[in-house]
Amino acid sequence: MPELPEVETVRARLEPALVGRRFVRVRIDDPRLVRPLEPREVAAELEGERVAAVERRGKYLVFRFESGRVLLIHLRMTGSLRHAPGGALQDDPHRRAVVTLDDGSDVAYRDVRRFGTWLLVESGELDPYLAARLGEEPLGAAFTTTALRSRLAGRRAPVKAALLDQRTLAGMGNIYVDEALWRARLHPLRPARELDANDVRRLHTGIRRALEAGIARQGATLRDYATPDGGRGSMQEEFKVYGRDGEPCVRCGTPIEKIRVAGRGTWFCPSCQPLGPVEEAQAASRSSRRPSRSSSRSSL
Ligand SMILES: [Zn+2]
Repeated sequence: MPELPEVETVRARLEPALVGRRFVRVRIDDPRLVRPLEPREVAAELEGERVAAVERRGKYLVFRFESGRVLLIHLRMTGSLRHAPGGALQDDPHRRAVVTLDDGSDVAYRDVRRFGTWLLVESGELDPYLAARLGEEPLGAAFTTTALRSRLAGRRAPVKAALLDQRTLAGMGNIYVDEALWRARLHPLRPARELDANDVRRLHTGIRRALEAGIARQGATLRDYATPDGGRGSMQEEFKVYGRDGEPCVRCGTPIEKIRVAGRGTWFCPSCQPLGPVEEAQAASRSSRRPSRSSSRSSL
């Protein structure tokens, strides 16, 4: 499922192809994409719009038009966008929509599972729509340690569940939450409200580092995600914990474990990410677990 780094990669690739271009022809083949509206109605509304900006908010792509209207695209599980020069689109049974631009090129939307959505909103409707659904942008200036701490305060939920909630902060999903918690040395089941100032500081850094690594790698391609030119991301080659159960932690050599948290497969290092405060675990391992630490180090 595309998360912030994947959506940001798509945004950055589409921006130079779309800004200043006009939607000449729009074909929407899947009613699920725009329901409860009629595909033909939405397509007709989009024709003639000229793109002013291609932005991202959380996992949403935000196409701003010169008219002030906005097309909000959510890729959900398996949605992807492809930009192709005129006549270059190959047959694809999972294509759900095609936009032809005024330079003759096409932007095609494909979606195997069909959970993705296109929503056309009027100027002024966008901010309230997003504000009701999304917390801060984790790479934005407003996302401070203090902001994160207040978002987590009083929440009984495991920290992993709190971070998956898009109202805590926008754009994190199953992959980058696990990767961020490993960087922060936090167990995914730690109750959010029990994190102290040091925990939250490490978490803040861990979130940014995990997301920045994902963006630098053009996202992670596990199955369906592809960049608009058909390329693959390579973040999966750099995963510290995600999908690595039984493999050694790159920091300490302990085998990565898999559990379920909030209904999602969750990977973590039982040694680097203790269930209690990390300082206690480090003190305990210094005094009593020296043999096991050295044996795990030798297995690196
Ligand atoms: Zn470890």
